[in-house]
Amino acid sequence: MKPEEIREKDKDIHAFLEVFDEPKTYGEGPLSGKTIAIKDNFLFEGHKASAGSKILENFTAPYDSTVVKKLKEAGATIVGRTNMDEFAMGSSTENSAYGVTRNPHDLERVPGGSSGGSAAALAAGLCDMSLGSDTGGSIRQPAAFCGVVGLKPTYGRVSRNGLIALASSLDQIGPFTKTVTDAEILYNVIKGEDPLDSTTINDETYPVQKKFDKTIGVPREFVEKEGVSEEVRKNLDEAIEKFESLGYNVVDIKLETLAYALAAYYIIMPAEASSNLARFDGVKYGLHKDGENSIDDYFKTRGEGFGRETRRRVILGTYVLSSGYYDAYYGQALDAKRAITEELRRAFRSVDLILTPTTPTPAFKFGEKSSPLEMYLADIFTVHANISGCPAISIPSGKVGNLPLGIELTADLGREDNLFTAGKDFMGE
Ligand code: GLN
Repeated sequence: MKPEEIREKDKDIHAFLEVFDEPKTYGEGPLSGKTIAIKDNFLFEGHKASAGSKILENFTAPYDSTVVKKLKEAGATIVGRTNMDEFAMGSSTENSAYGVTRNPHDLERVPGGSSGGSAAALAAGLCDMSLGSDTGGSIRQPAAFCGVVGLKPTYGRVSRNGLIALASSLDQIGPFTKTVTDAEILYNVIKGEDPLDSTTINDETYPVQKKFDKTIGVPREFVEKEGVSEEVRKNLDEAIEKFESLGYNVVDIKLETLAYALAAYYIIMPAEASSNLARFDGVKYGLHKDGENSIDDYFKTRGEGFGRETRRRVILGTYVLSSGYYDAYYGQALDAKRAITEELRRAFRSVDLILTPTTPTPAFKFGEKSSPLEMYLADIFTVHANISGCPAISIPSGKVGNLPLGIELTADLGREDNLFTAGKDFMGE
């Protein structure tokens, strides 16, 4: 598809912030002939990277992120950068400084977030594959809302060098694709140890705990929470039946610590974000606003450059890290993180995968989540994977009316192979 054609087809959806005029192909490899869209928080040398923020409106990437370098070597053609919630904070792409992205299945509804542009671009057929980043669900949730496959790899599997950071202990890059087979191909291209990211891991980092024998655990109590729509519950039961008919053994499991995952996430994430975003001071990058003196410059630049949600999280993060509240909030959230990780790893000694819905509801309407807390609840089923570092995939599991739904499989650390096996079985690939 030519750039003009993508632009024309994207008019109503606004998945792209920019469709490149002359997309180039560099190397040759497993992605030859494939067009790929990247989220606006990836550095791609010579191109803008604004992370959906006004503060980086005129920032041009001075080098390639490791992932972009790998895409180039693998023969991909990068066609453009996609819209996102500012600094990847959000679940609807309504927080972008550059306007919303619409869900291709229903233009009145959100595509999910924060990688809503990448999910919508793929769902609308404007690229063959796309990439996003996932800090608390930002690949899996929009994948579910847009009816595509979305994978968050194990923490450290994919280099974050050249990804504009949100929360460094949670962020992970991953693919959006139409099939699980394609997700595996793209994952194999982008994964790997990287001297430029000391948190990256290799195939041997996590020794295999358990041989794959088609066992799936469903944390029933957690799934049957308030706020989970009837359609979503029904869809999960159908998915369970399908897995059973494919020879899987599906059992109920108890995961008591999952109840604390969302609260822990909304402490750890803003804490790290407040620290990461301190670099946007009007001196080093992007926007600069003149005030009375240099402190005033700082307040003006950040006040005008950051949107509401970003400012909210910077304030929240600074608060939970402040000396008087550190133990009460941040310290406790870290304890919860440890407990969640231990409980999940224990569970993976007896089951290969954990199955939940990806989202409590199908795609919602613009403006429907009027309070931030309501919006945060959209992440209820996704944050555990980031908190524990475990890999998780969202797979299309049918529709309610014209709205797609997704199921989510989570695996033990380093066991993406189990996600691919079960995902392909489920999709009949
Ligand atoms: N929706 C979550 C949030 O608002 C997740 C964001 C993400 O994964 N980048 O923080």
